[in-house]
Amino acid sequence: MQKIDNFNFAGLKAIVRVDFNVPLDENGKITDDTRIRGALPTLKKILADGGSLILMSHMGKPKGKVNPKMSLSQIKDAVSNALGVPVLFAPDCGNASEMAAALKPGEVLLLENLRFYPEEEGKPVGIDKEDPNYDVAKKEMKARQVEFAKKLASYADVYVNDAFGTAHRKHASTAVIADYFNTDNKMLGYLMEKEVTAVDNILSDIKRPFTAIMGGSKVSTKIGIIENLMDKVDNLILCGGMTYTFSKATGGNIGTSICENDKLDLALDIIKKAAEKGVNLVLATDCVAADSYSNDANTQIVPVNAIPDGWEGLDAGPESRKAFANAIKEAKTILWNGPAGVFEFDNFTAGSRAIADAIVEATANGAFSLIGGGDSVACVNKFGLADKVSYVSTGGGALLEAIEGKELPGIAAIKGK
Ligand code: AMP
Repeated sequence: MQKIDNFNFAGLKAIVRVDFNVPLDENGKITDDTRIRGALPTLKKILADGGSLILMSHMGKPKGKVNPKMSLSQIKDAVSNALGVPVLFAPDCGNASEMAAALKPGEVLLLENLRFYPEEEGKPVGIDKEDPNYDVAKKEMKARQVEFAKKLASYADVYVNDAFGTAHRKHASTAVIADYFNTDNKMLGYLMEKEVTAVDNILSDIKRPFTAIMGGSKVSTKIGIIENLMDKVDNLILCGGMTYTFSKATGGNIGTSICENDKLDLALDIIKKAAEKGVNLVLATDCVAADSYSNDANTQIVPVNAIPDGWEGLDAGPESRKAFANAIKEAKTILWNGPAGVFEFDNFTAGSRAIADAIVEATANGAFSLIGGGDSVACVNKFGLADKVSYVSTGGGALLEAIEGKELPGIAAIKGK
């Protein structure tokens, strides 16, 4: 596989898939530019070599239609400021041949949101999966996706993928495009390389004990990774909203707490499997229950299996926080995905805070800690602790799929598999 560090971009046009899907406020102002900053090492290297840059990204979910609220033109100036050079803008990413051809060394062209074209994701639009014509529509769209990818490829001499957050998707710009560059002219960017190394650290060189913390709202979206982790970890902390599915499954009263009633058997199965595999499963025993889903709700600390009617668990209680912290502090490898409570409300951050603090302490004592997934990253950022853990991944789904051991299409495409 070609390495970016070994490549000289002088005189070449590089098309770089970046993840500029940054959050914007209602006035289109960037509220967190982490993703732009994350791409800078790759972009600066290409410019410093004397190459030119064609930047492509998605923003939001415009579902194949032009939507000015998701236009990348809104971030053009921020990209320009971050790079310290002017940035040109191509308002139609599928029709930018002339602008791309005119680029000179050191110049930068930002393409409009890739997802304004349904071809980017390659999913047929306006047709239901149950429709008898769905398969034909899908085939047609896949053919259009190839043409779209070829078009993007035609703009440049070299392809660089630095968008880890979308590496688990087989989209035109993240995977299909790579087929139109030879092996020497396609590579991962620095950010991607760092992400891959962080995952390798977790998978190949596990220092024990290994503690994984899975939180968030639902067990259903995390089941793949939970089952996979069961073969790897010593301690598995399951927290956040999924706590109440477990509590109900084991006969608890959970009031109005979030619960997936169709996943009760799954919860029991996880408890059984953990016991069979000798994994120390750490579930919350108490919670901060609220009388409404709001920051200003009245609260009380109650056992997770005795939540009064009309009350819902919105955060881990003090006894649970202590149990979580103990399982984290003894660890030498730590993976965290998903908050322990509704951390968006300041009054329900204590569980996530206890986890973050314990991870910081364990990291200071030599543990390798990897944090991924939008919400847990938002948590460590909110607590100002991002630089006190080993690695904060830019990927959510991509990170979890990589840790599940799946080969990510974005990486496989570069390897030429
Ligand atoms: P996920 O996208 O599945 O990782 O879930 C993240 C979301 O889970 C966050 O927005 C949290 O507010 C939410 N969450 C965490 N704990 C709870 C809870 N006890 N009740 C409701 N939502 C929760």
